[in-house]
Amino acid sequence: MSLNLFERKRILVTGGAGFLGSHLCDRLIAQGHDVICVDNFFTGPKDNILHLIGNPRFELMRHDVTFPLYVEVDEIYNLACPASPIHYQYDPVQTTKTSVHGAINMLGLAKRVKARIFQASTSEVYGDPAVHPQTEDYWGNVNPIGPRACYDEGKRCAETLFFDYHRQHGLDIRVARIFNTYGPRMHPADGRVVSNFIMQALKGEPITLYGTGLQTRSFCYVDDLIDAFLAFMKTPDVIGPINLGNPSEFTIKELAEQVIRLTHSKSTLTFKDLPTDDPMQRCPDITQARHVLKWEPSVKLEDGLKKTIEYFRALTR
Ligand code: NAD
Ligand code: UDP
Ligand code: UDP
Repeated sequence: MSLNLFERKRILVTGGAGFLGSHLCDRLIAQGHDVICVDNFFTGPKDNILHLIGNPRFELMRHDVTFPLYVEVDEIYNLACPASPIHYQYDPVQTTKTSVHGAINMLGLAKRVKARIFQASTSEVYGDPAVHPQTEDYWGNVNPIGPRACYDEGKRCAETLFFDYHRQHGLDIRVARIFNTYGPRMHPADGRVVSNFIMQALKGEPITLYGTGLQTRSFCYVDDLIDAFLAFMKTPDVIGPINLGNPSEFTIKELAEQVIRLTHSKSTLTFKDLPTDDPMQRCPDITQARHVLKWEPSVKLEDGLKKTIEYFRALTR
């Protein structure tokens, strides 16, 4: 699509080489915008955006958001942060720095250039929730000193910074609380449940259920989520926080059984210890997103899994 000079925006996507970031870059480029993709390639491989390199509207910058960044842009999507537990626990201090210093730098940038800024927050701000499904007014149940705290508390502090920059400096913010999302370009070795189960099923290895497998998650397909990002960013005067995710809730065991069925795998189930502070249930209340953004997910788990399985199958060939 081609836009004229007045319609085209210069858009910064931090974490743009990651799973979600690369899909967002694709969509913004397809809409005709100029995209600056900033990434330190900690968890996002260059492969995710290889097809965009050489496109004159796409610019790739290797940069760590914990350091200041001076670019001239109209909009910012701040996605930089490892998202899978094994990656964010690999260097927990860097994880907190990425969320907190990264937010300060991107908010400072947004303040200077007067750009609207989107924050990829997370359902993890609710911790192991005592309220179910989770509504945005629930303050959460987070262990501040556990192994997940670098991520959970980092993201909570980033939300604080976003709202303080909004109140103190009038910044135009959008805070999205993203629930478990899956799809092509998830890292096959990132340890998240969907990628683990599909890779194990394709290799015929035992499927590793942590704990009883009766804990629940709600899985959103990536295309649905990116629709929500774009809708949120263009909706005036709505700052959030808004839950974004798919409210269809499944136990982890049900997910394993679906993956086995869809891959026609002979894998068996095996049970391992539940990681510390692993939430027992998680399901978004998306009433706000439905009303305010006029958005709701449309891809069923089975259909999204089929597309994701195809992606991982191609990787293993
Ligand atoms: P991802 O790990 O695939 O992507 C994160 C990207 O950020 C990677 O490309 C990584 O290299 C980059 N990055 C990490 N630290 C950086 C730094 N200091 N400077 C620059 N780049 C850095 O994860 P994702 O699933 O695409 O998640 C993207 C964002 O969405 C994250 O902020 C994550 O917390 C949030 N989120 C994702 C989910 C999900 O289910 N996928 C759920 C809730 C929130
Ligand atoms: N910053 C940045 N790019 C900019 C403007 C600011 O990276 O274009 C960083 C800068 O390093 C600063 C942070 O954002 O430390 C916060 O900026 P702000 O103006 O809010 O605060 P101050 O400069 O007063 O610390
Ligand atoms: N999980 C599992 N087996 C795996 C990977 C994860 O049973 O191989 C479980 C994990 O304990 C958690 C759920 O699946 O209860 C979702 O885990 P993930 O790491 O994908 O995301 P998060 O815990 O951050 O929601």
